[in-house]
Amino acid sequence: MKLYNTLTKRKEEFVPIEPGKVSIYVCGPTVYNLIHIGNARPMIVFDTARRYMEYKGYEVNYVSNFTDVDDKIINKAIEEGVSADVISTRYIAECKKDMADMNVRPATTHPLATQEIPGMIDMITNLIEQGYAYDVNGTVYFRTRKFKEYGKLSHKNLDDLRSGFRDLKVTGEDQKEDPLDFVLWKPKKDGEPYWDAPWSKGRPGWHIECSVMAKHYLGDTIDIHAGGEDLVFPHHENEIAQSECSNGVPFAHYWLHNAFLNIDNRKMSKSLGNFFTVRDIKEKYDLMVLRFFMLSAHYRSPLNFSAEIMESSKNALERMVNSVDRLNDLIKAAEAKQNGTVAADASLCTEEEQAKLEEMKQYRAKFEEAMDDDINTADAIAAVFELIKFANTEVTEARTGSFAALVRKEILTLCDILGLIVERKAEVLDEEIEQLIAERQAARKAKNFARADEIRDQLQAQGIILEDTREGVKWKRA
Ligand code: AMP
Ligand code: ZN
Repeated sequence: MKLYNTLTKRKEEFVPIEPGKVSIYVCGPTVYNLIHIGNARPMIVFDTARRYMEYKGYEVNYVSNFTDVDDKIINKAIEEGVSADVISTRYIAECKKDMADMNVRPATTHPLATQEIPGMIDMITNLIEQGYAYDVNGTVYFRTRKFKEYGKLSHKNLDDLRSGFRDLKVTGEDQKEDPLDFVLWKPKKDGEPYWDAPWSKGRPGWHIECSVMAKHYLGDTIDIHAGGEDLVFPHHENEIAQSECSNGVPFAHYWLHNAFLNIDNRKMSKSLGNFFTVRDIKEKYDLMVLRFFMLSAHYRSPLNFSAEIMESSKNALERMVNSVDRLNDLIKAAEAKQNGTVAADASLCTEEEQAKLEEMKQYRAKFEEAMDDDINTADAIAAVFELIKFANTEVTEARTGSFAALVRKEILTLCDILGLIVERKAEVLDEEIEQLIAERQAARKAKNFARADEIRDQLQAQGIILEDTREGVKWKRA
């Protein structure tokens, strides 16, 4: 398969370090708020890349961090009068719920920056020993100019950067040897979380966190490093500088970056205030619609969010769901007729059906061709729609149940690679909901909070949202 590599600015054939295995590191969110749908874009597209690689038989070690120490987290903690870890723990849990709703699989490991401080101290110590870093009054800086390859990812020239940085120079940074130098460790301010280190009681810079977490869980050289395109410079450039100077080997072979999710053609971001959280979208749509919307464009193309595109995504996804629904009905009818289960077995199909199954193979071939071409999910979805059309016209009452079952299996296989769930959820009846709510109340009374939470989560998975009000528990369908 080919991947576009930001480092070489070319599509390259993917060759893993170890045959059959892939190591991926994806920069995760800073957890101080509910994630917005811009943050959801890298989650969905790289989860899809992972699923496709697994489908191709690779064993994928997928690591994605949570940045749980940061100015924004600290500010939020001060605002609420709680400690920083109360904030990060809360929003990690919320983020995981959103991921589950978007059918983004948990990473093999989700490291937390705060749990990796010893590794960061080791890497910084090593960089100082080699002359790549220096300590001024407890702040440690990376000596950017000493790394001759600095700028190779963002294709920036050091001298251009230097003149840009001069203008940007802010007070408090005059202790740096060079405006290009960046922070590896900074001393604590009052009320901030801190760790003991040889240079000061303080905390790590953001860039060193990812270098260390990638090294810890994936090794010195990894196959793929990914994230949003805003991270190319300076975050990923700095990660390369730290890791390559410290480890003495290339950091990542392939660098993948998703384009922005925009709104009114501007980047959706928390600082601009023009964002929707994943939770906002969930109020109105099943999050499969959001996933479909994200995958309907190539990950390197900017994607503009609008109510109209969400509506058309909803309708398009519904066409897939309806097609599978119809196949389910046909399979059920065939089962009733033959009084037993239908097997998805080509040898039980008629000769004509077998010829049709041969014809059906072209859609999977197109799907794979698209995905092999730098994960072109837009074209892969188009291939699924061709398959849907085939299903809608070729599978009729006159066909065997096995034929219907094989076509259905094909649709589900391809949709599963995209992480799209296209089987309609069974409708939960009002009395079932009421019964579960009563059971949850009883569990709470008996202080069995685990069971109470389990029921809430089960209902949530079925699209039922509970609200605890003064008048008792109220529920609504999402
Ligand atoms: P942050 O929490 O800002 O560090 O972002 C977490 C991830 O979301 C990073 O990979 C960002 O590049 C990505 N990201 C943030 N905003 C957007 C956006 N509007 N479109 C696409 N990706 C984004
Ligand atoms: Zn990172």
